[in-house]
Amino acid sequence: MDFKFNAKEQAFYEELDEFLTSELPADWGNKPVRWPHDYAESPMKSEEDYEVAKSFIKKVVDKGWFTISWPKEYGGQGYTNIEQAIYDERMSYHRAPGGSSGSIAAGIVGPMLLRIGTLEQQKQWIPKIANAEMTMWLGYSEPNAGSDLGAVRTSAVEDGDHYVLNGQKCWSSGAHKADYSWMIVRTDPEARKHQGVSFFIVDNKAPGITMKPVYNILGDHSFNEVFMDDVRIPKENLIGGKNKGFYHLMKALDFERITLVGIGGFKRMFEELLDYVKSHDRNGEPMAKIPSVRAKLAEIATKIEVGYLLLWRTAEMLDRDQDPNVESSALKVVSTELARDMAEVAMEILGPYGQLTEESEWSPIRAMVSRGFLESISATIGAGTSEIQRNIIAQRGLGLPRV
Ligand SMILES: Cc1cc2nc3c(=O)[nH]c(=O)nc-3n(C[C@H](O)[C@H](O)[C@H](O)COP(=O)(O)OP(=O)(O)OC[C@H]3O[C@@H](n4cnc5c(N)ncnc54)[C@H](O)[C@@H]3O)c2cc1C
Repeated sequence: MDFKFNAKEQAFYEELDEFLTSELPADWGNKPVRWPHDYAESPMKSEEDYEVAKSFIKKVVDKGWFTISWPKEYGGQGYTNIEQAIYDERMSYHRAPGGSSGSIAAGIVGPMLLRIGTLEQQKQWIPKIANAEMTMWLGYSEPNAGSDLGAVRTSAVEDGDHYVLNGQKCWSSGAHKADYSWMIVRTDPEARKHQGVSFFIVDNKAPGITMKPVYNILGDHSFNEVFMDDVRIPKENLIGGKNKGFYHLMKALDFERITLVGIGGFKRMFEELLDYVKSHDRNGEPMAKIPSVRAKLAEIATKIEVGYLLLWRTAEMLDRDQDPNVESSALKVVSTELARDMAEVAMEILGPYGQLTEESEWSPIRAMVSRGFLESISATIGAGTSEIQRNIIAQRGLGLPRV
């Protein structure tokens, strides 16, 4: 089996790598505190970093790479999903802003609109997404609906040319910084729970929307509670047909599980850990010679390799017009549990130093380990918990009965 890139893929890989090295500020990847799957996007805490990120993303858009696998007529380059995966991998390796994992609009909503949006809806939203002119958040979870999204209760009731929304969303990552949400709400309270929901694009500026910040384990404002009181949404913002939302949700979740991987970030973090081990002693002995350290690193290296294989596999299935439903769940479990396992191994290797935060000059690897150790658990919950992914693999992949 030949796992090499073909000539076009290899050329793109090299061109992109060169672009990222020359266009990102030299210290961008070395900003303190960053762990793969860091939902608070810690390097972008300052206004200055946001400005750098914005102008960098503009350059990516100008290159036509922001939505490279979309058809040309929709602002993409018509590249394959393997090339899209190369893009995501390199962007995450360089810790670049604007990879598809950083863009709900380009990674999830855009591909959904291309599949299920009407021509008018595509004309309205696709150019803005392709030009990185709008940002979005995901309005799925509610206080009593997380793993079981069929239980959403936020309601949308028809009123003339509008729907009127009432209810509450929670764990809404980045909602306070975004322009619109991709929201699932109940449009038929009488229907069976999986049959009465629909998708809407909801403007954050619509009167009646209020947000309350929710701080994560690191003390960062990453989540929000979002309340909707008589929010009027134009009917044309209903996407994919009334009461058809649950079928579309399955596809949207597949896209989410693929886009949030950022496998290159794991490789980069692992390389930094490896460098640390190669250049440090413990109790007078080179760390690189300690059997338990070597065994743990070997295990993480193997898991990273598995993540890469699943990434190429899902991309290749998309290129063959197959649905990588089970594969995207496997990729999600493997990559998020890898983030957690690597943080645990890093903490063991660094010992007490691993607990130091960015305020300490003695903290190794730019204090990323203390942050990663706390933060990485949440990745196994967001976008569907590991238990739910294993249920999907068991049921749809292995043909075991639903329980
Ligand atoms: C970092 C992060 C970011 C997030 N961002 C967003 C966001 O932007 N937008 C959004 O809408 N939501 C977001 N979420 C919410 C996330 O999708 C939910 O937390 C997740 O789906 C679990 O739902 P829940 O919290 O209601 O837990 P529950 O569904 O109540 O689950 C509780 C526990 O029971 C287990 N469980 C539930 N059902 C089953 C089952 N059938 N079989 C086996 N075990 C089961 C779960 O695995 C879990 O361990 C985010 C969460 C995190 C951690």
